[in-house]
Amino acid sequence: MRLTNNHGISLPLAVWLLNDEYDYINEPNYISATSLLKSTRQLVLSRRVIQEDREMDLSDLLASRMGAAIHDSQEKAWRENGQRAMMKLGYPEAVYSNIVVNPTPQQIAENPAIVPIWIEKRAFREITVDGVTYKIGGKFDQVIDGRLFDTKTTSVYSYLLGRKDNDYAMQGGIYRWLNPDLIKDEHIFIQFVFTDWQKARARGDDNYPSTKTLEYPVEMPSITDTENYIRGKIRELIRYGNLPDEQIPHCTDKELWKGETIYKYYSDPNKTSGRATRNFDTDKAEAAAYMASKGGKGVVVAFPGEVKACGYCPAFNACKQKDLYFVA
Ligand code: SF4
Repeated sequence: MRLTNNHGISLPLAVWLLNDEYDYINEPNYISATSLLKSTRQLVLSRRVIQEDREMDLSDLLASRMGAAIHDSQEKAWRENGQRAMMKLGYPEAVYSNIVVNPTPQQIAENPAIVPIWIEKRAFREITVDGVTYKIGGKFDQVIDGRLFDTKTTSVYSYLLGRKDNDYAMQGGIYRWLNPDLIKDEHIFIQFVFTDWQKARARGDDNYPSTKTLEYPVEMPSITDTENYIRGKIRELIRYGNLPDEQIPHCTDKELWKGETIYKYYSDPNKTSGRATRNFDTDKAEAAAYMASKGGKGVVVAFPGEVKACGYCPAFNACKQKDLYFVA
């Protein structure tokens, strides 16, 4: 993979960005929980990309390193300060004095009062689809008292749109499918840490989060529905794994993180390159009604939403669908 530094990121930050401590697993027929959430096209074609042909800019690593840094510090906080923090928060001594991070089976057997704090625990499970056995693995963030917690470092916009709620639900479902003995609650409790929260906006908008963090419970699919989803995804991988690009289903608008189409009304149909007379966000009918109110004069132009996922996609170099949105 070729590395670039197009934004001149300084040495101290560049060294931090290049420090990848994630324990990747490279085994045939291994699929991670997060990979199962990706589109079939992305999953199939990313395996065909020759690594040497890939290019990555240091700035592309910022989001994942910030996320990893928060996860690391949360684990450190539990290990080094968990008891003191719970005491300050008013938990009974019988609870905080018995917390143990990732206890061994022996520790659990020896202390009936133990309060396990499960952090970054990886689990595996095998599943056989059409005669082929796959290994599914995943590492959840935290499980406390049967409840699954997952920290997401993201924009307020992403939370407000709620477009990833189904992914959050399925991600939680897969972790529960992998750890049915630990995860008992029906929800995944998303712990948002907003990267772009603004105090001024929080004052005037009731929908806007009141602080930089927010807990957001999302109901998970049942274990049966989760397993059906996993089987379906694997079946698609088998079916399309060796087919040419043209025969692999296209990524959907949702998988492309495509923005909404915006409709603009221009009173002069010959001048649609400048400022519109009026914008109608996503409501085409409203735009058409407005034009009708002007005696049918003018024109309504649709501006398709921007495709964002391709820019972050490991299949980019091998994918022809992306050529529909990006001119080389
Ligand atoms: S490059 Fe874009 S269209 Fe192609 S697989 Fe990735 S997200 Fe889908």
